Amino acid sequence: MQYRTNPRNGDRISALGLGCMRFPGPPGRPDPVRARELTARAVERGINYLDTAYLYPGNEACVGATLEELGLRDQVLLATKLPHGSVRARQDLDRIFDEQLRRLRTDHVDYYLVHNVTSPAQWERLCELGIEDWIARQRAAGRIRQMGFSYHGSAGDFPVVLDAYDWDFCQIQYNYAGETYQAGTAGLRAAAARGLAVFVMEPLLGGRLADRLPDRARRIIDAAATPELATPAAWGLSWVWDHPEVTMLLSGMNAPEQIDENAALAERALPGSLAPAQHEVIARVVEEFERTNRVPCTGCNYCMPCPQGINIPGCFSAYNASYAHGWFTGLSQYFTASAIRTSEPKLVSNCVRCGACARHCPQHIDIPARLEEVARRFQPGPVGWALRAWSHRG
Ligand code: SF4
Ligand code: SF4
Repeated sequence: MQYRTNPRNGDRISALGLGCMRFPGPPGRPDPVRARELTARAVERGINYLDTAYLYPGNEACVGATLEELGLRDQVLLATKLPHGSVRARQDLDRIFDEQLRRLRTDHVDYYLVHNVTSPAQWERLCELGIEDWIARQRAAGRIRQMGFSYHGSAGDFPVVLDAYDWDFCQIQYNYAGETYQAGTAGLRAAAARGLAVFVMEPLLGGRLADRLPDRARRIIDAAATPELATPAAWGLSWVWDHPEVTMLLSGMNAPEQIDENAALAERALPGSLAPAQHEVIARVVEEFERTNRVPCTGCNYCMPCPQGINIPGCFSAYNASYAHGWFTGLSQYFTASAIRTSEPKLVSNCVRCGACARHCPQHIDIPARLEEVARRFQPGPVGWALRAWSHRG
């Protein structure tokens, strides 16, 4: 495993971290057996950073039980996140954090993040509630080692958030298709210049830069493949690691073979290891990707559940697939996502525009409006009437 150093405290962190949000299992109920298998394999392969969050349903408890049962707590750096929207008063900080420690079966968190910061005003509100003093007390008690934030706001606001506190680290969305999106390359460099460790999430855009890459982009990768860079995922992860400012990237691996593949890549993907010709390949892939990237959904599930039962990420994935891989492929995926062949189909046209989903979307997608586009693509005119009649039968 390749390790990179946290410039703040000298921690040696594996270049590949385990994002536990995508542990296998039904929503809210990660499978404990498979979580144990994945975690054991990850640590065996040298991964020493595990990331979870209060808001990932059932995830902290699963991570805590897994680490306790495997006896691995002291071998890993454990990260979790504060749901700042749930903090209404200073005592909420203690209540939430105590609950996190209980769930995680530990007495400290190595890396604690304010989760999903999208504007400087959110941090200012926490400061008014006394969070800076609270952090100082937790640090002094050894309950938090490093303090950071995960970010999904604009490029312009990012330096403002960086300068609003003496952060140890930050976590940004970063991949070759998003150099100017959210923090982007400018944000990566700004954080590193301030001496922060930078952790990267969504290096493969929720799989859209891996197996779901558009067909034409995939052909470009296949033509340039080498034994070391044999798959789209290998190209996407290596591109992130190519940046010396990146301390670690998180990948939501949900099979032991994925861990083996990514860990092997992490060993080789040193900063600056991609050749200029390989960067040109990626630039051509980006051009193709952008032609078909209709909805920037990463499949994070933050918007779920929808009270109408709509599978929002599944429907967006089908919509994008209809441009990346052809309309029939997208339609087939839409049929699966909307459970059309079951007795209780959940069509996008069932959306009542309640807005419950959109305020949780870190990509700031206007979900109800974009679902209307999905409806126009997959349920046009008579097809829509037939599907709606079918969905209301019985
Ligand atoms: S706006 Fe539509 S998709 Fe979003 S939660 Fe409400 S019904 Fe579901
Ligand atoms: S619509 Fe937004 S919140 Fe929902 S899965 Fe996609 S990116 Fe995540």
